[in-house]
Amino acid sequence: MSVTPISSSNLGFVSLVGAGPGDPDLLTVKGYRVIQQAEVVVYDRLVSPEILALANCDAEMIYVGKKLDFHCVPQDQINQILVEKALQGKKVVRLKGGDSFIFGRGGEELEELAEHGICFEVVPGITAAAGATAYAGIPLTHREHAQSVQFITGHVQKDGREIEWQSLAQSNNTLVFYMGLKQSGYITEKLLETGMDSNMSCAIIENGTRREQRVFTGALQDLPNMAKQALSPALIVVGSVTSLHDKLKWFNA
Ligand code: SAH
Repeated sequence: MSVTPISSSNLGFVSLVGAGPGDPDLLTVKGYRVIQQAEVVVYDRLVSPEILALANCDAEMIYVGKKLDFHCVPQDQINQILVEKALQGKKVVRLKGGDSFIFGRGGEELEELAEHGICFEVVPGITAAAGATAYAGIPLTHREHAQSVQFITGHVQKDGREIEWQSLAQSNNTLVFYMGLKQSGYITEKLLETGMDSNMSCAIIENGTRREQRVFTGALQDLPNMAKQALSPALIVVGSVTSLHDKLKWFNA
């Protein structure tokens, strides 16, 4: 008796797509194409409606959005949805805000797919740190200000391992904190403790690249007060590059 091998074309395929930070025009051309071809779109909260509207009207749209401290759908269930849909032979797009590999758990989801032998691809997106600072007129590096840049999760204590604060507090390093609004007091305290100047300039970019974008700037010592006025999603940027915002702002200016 002969056994028909399962051809890989019978299996589904998952495209892990970064939707960018907000402005729908920041989606990549490749992302645009795979969303249009998708049979299933599994998407997060920060993906703009204009990008979701690119999907075929027959595509199954599955919302698994997450809010801070509140996961609508637990991660293992999201993984399960992706695996199930792919094993049904569907073309699946897993759509996330920004870039899927920057604080997006994209790696965890792909590991699950790999363990099930499911084929996938990764379509990078513009991460909030790149998009929001560009629209705020804040260059992440600049020969006179910053020779390095670091992306840091503000979910510090919650995610377990503590950040190595000592290595961050160098004046020529731009720091970008994701998910940091609620932890701004702790972030400020730690940076001051490890020797950063209390007058170091910093910024909060709220709703970066969206029409409603707002940028707050001030000194590090005022960061917790600035954070009280800001709404999520927002990035905290610490470093002297933020002082260029006044001169280089162009969006909503
Ligand atoms: N994968 C995403 C980040 C997900 S974590 C990326 O690459 O951008 C979610 C955090 O990203 C938010 O708490 C916020 O800190 C940041 N963020 C996402 N979109 C943003 C936006 N439009 N403006 C400012 N910050 C944003």
